[in-house]
Amino acid sequence: MTGVEAALRGALGADRVRRSVPLSDLTTFGVGGPADLLVETRTSDEIVKALAVAHQAGVGVTLLGGGSNVLVSDAGVRGVVIRPRPGGIRRIDDTHIEADAGVTINGLVRWTIMHRAAGLEAWAGTPGTVGGAIYGNAHFNGRLISELVTRVSLAARDGRACDVAAPGLRFGYDRSRLQQTGEVLLAAEFRVGDGEPGALRATARESLAFRKRTQPLDTPSAGCVFQNPEPGRDRLPDAVPWSAGALVDRAGLKGDRLGGAVVSRAHGNFIVNDGTATAADIRRLIEHCRRRVRERFGVELREEIVYLGEFDVHTAD
Ligand SMILES: Cc1cc2nc3c(=O)[nH]c(=O)nc-3n(C[C@H](O)[C@H](O)[C@H](O)COP(=O)(O)OP(=O)(O)OC[C@H]3O[C@@H](n4cnc5c(N)ncnc54)[C@H](O)[C@@H]3O)c2cc1C
Repeated sequence: MTGVEAALRGALGADRVRRSVPLSDLTTFGVGGPADLLVETRTSDEIVKALAVAHQAGVGVTLLGGGSNVLVSDAGVRGVVIRPRPGGIRRIDDTHIEADAGVTINGLVRWTIMHRAAGLEAWAGTPGTVGGAIYGNAHFNGRLISELVTRVSLAARDGRACDVAAPGLRFGYDRSRLQQTGEVLLAAEFRVGDGEPGALRATARESLAFRKRTQPLDTPSAGCVFQNPEPGRDRLPDAVPWSAGALVDRAGLKGDRLGGAVVSRAHGNFIVNDGTATAADIRRLIEHCRRRVRERFGVELREEIVYLGEFDVHTAD
């Protein structure tokens, strides 16, 4: 690891590269072991440089955004973890803006409201960054963030960058091409309209209030653990809603606990950390929920959250 560490320090500056950094502090679940090397990049150029250096050294790279949709293993993540921070936002023309990967969705919403740009205000309260939102095609209230995306800048794992128009990203519910290709998001362009800041702020407040009413925001979690089942892909018994949270609820799993991991009583699709959970507790509780829902409804739930690092999966509980 010392070779790649020295090369990264040479390319980006010594202060940007840290060794054995605990990732629990950088994820909303509050669990997870250390990254061998954590690189905090400030620009797209720095992401590209870090990718090229790691590629040349043959060392694996993992991207970490706001850490709000990941479960990091207790053993941590080997190789290099790149964490883009914080990045900039630019107006491209009257109807488009561009945000770097490390910009938080909340920061983006604040910027658009201040700059009278309409379209993103309802995304207020979505944790995480532009990079994570594009990777998983974040959704809220029946809308997908991809509906607002017109173009992105990507880098391949060897650092080669390219621009891709939205149709080339193969967006779907919880899906983008980044999940297959391993490409890294550098920046995304969004379509915006004209807005009056007072009205935009009111919509943002409504979204925040809705989240406060429906989600356990005072306990560490990674939001929804499972994707909702999809018509055409899954089969559900009659009169059962197409909602992972409802399936967990109807299987009687709310409040179930393994170690410090608990199925939220407020929202069946949230697993919360009571402050003592390990990543292994959370992973075991996920398998427990999946098994119980399968036994009860014949549906195989798929994760919305992403696992980073190695897990030793025990399905028995
Ligand atoms: C309380 C709470 C509420 C939530 N509500 C919602 C919601 O309403 N809708 C919703 O969709 N999600 C929700 N989430 C989940 C989460 O906020 C989103 O999935 C978010 O978009 C993840 O962004 P992130 O930056 O935190 O990504 P991370 O969790 O850091 O990473 C997620 C994945 O994206 C990859 N990634 C990150 N950055 C890049 C990049 N630059 N290039 C390539 N890959 C990258 C990572 O490697 C990882 O595989 C919620 C989470 C919490 C904790």
